[in-house]
Amino acid sequence: MKKDDCIFCKIVSGEIPAHKVYEDEDSLAFLDINPTREGHTLVIPKEHYTTVEDMPNNKYSNLMLVVKKLKTLYKKIFKTPQVGLFVSGWDVPHAHVHVLPMESSGDISSKGSKDNPSPKPSYGWFSNTAKKITQEL
Ligand SMILES: [Zn+2]
Repeated sequence: MKKDDCIFCKIVSGEIPAHKVYEDEDSLAFLDINPTREGHTLVIPKEHYTTVEDMPNNKYSNLMLVVKKLKTLYKKIFKTPQVGLFVSGWDVPHAHVHVLPMESSGDISSKGSKDNPSPKPSYGWFSNTAKKITQEL
């Protein structure tokens, strides 16, 4: 299933570019365009589901195995004490899990990027981060 006006479905189809860091048959991971910190990644099912609760269990399990793989890897790559996971369901209505390298417990929110509209990181910054991740996978 695909929703024509869904930005994440357009990333899956390649219509909208993203810095993809992982892809398999069911799942796609790419860097959050409004990162709380370097490595902030969204892991999504390729099929359109509005929320994770809507996903069949096998698809959800596959998604969470990708999340686990990235969480494990990101501790090594970004050298943060924790890598947090969250599903907020507030923004894009296509199921997604945030994977976020964390320096402190206050990092587990994307609120910072909305309340402090600092300049977006450059294309090169995203490319460099994506490269750090993909070369370790
Ligand atoms: Zn979608």
